[in-house]
Amino acid sequence: MCGIIGYTGKLAAAPVLIEGLKRLEYRGYDSAGLAVVADEHMYQVKSVGKVAQLEAVAGQQPELKKLAGCGIAHTRWATHGAPSTPNAHPHLDESGRFAIVHNGIIENHQELRRHLRTKGYTFRSETDSEVIAYLIADAYEGDLLSATAAALEQLSGTYGLAVVSLLNPDEIVVARKGSPIVI
Ligand code: GLU
Repeated sequence: MCGIIGYTGKLAAAPVLIEGLKRLEYRGYDSAGLAVVADEHMYQVKSVGKVAQLEAVAGQQPELKKLAGCGIAHTRWATHGAPSTPNAHPHLDESGRFAIVHNGIIENHQELRRHLRTKGYTFRSETDSEVIAYLIADAYEGDLLSATAAALEQLSGTYGLAVVSLLNPDEIVVARKGSPIVI
């Protein structure tokens, strides 16, 4: 059972997210990752194994210790695709402007992938979750909440979801169906 945490505020986001993931470690997981939107940049760190491993990889980007911003993080319990770094969350859309973390299963992900491939998109992971970032990017017309809602309308399955975007740097959009979210 995966864990999700999001943070927005004045503190450096990455250390808060990593501390949050540590508190969720009891849930069991195979990999972990985080994304932070700060200074007009999408920072992403992922790792197979424990949160301590993620923390070590994040340490290679020292600016992450200081950057205040908006971020999301995830511990993954793989259901679709091997436990691997490319399959760890967050997943970004092709342009790298949208990042999502997802708990649950997207039952119609293959159909959605096929549809998005016909529009020219290419994918980077084997997960059912990645398609959500692409659907949000595809629906985006300036409003992250509306784009996320449009993406969710196309999904069958369950989700706890958190979304950030370079284009809306102060926002985290969250949604749930069949999974809990606490704000
Ligand atoms: N189904 C997704 C995956 O395999 C999410 C798994 C989870 O809830 O951690 O990446």
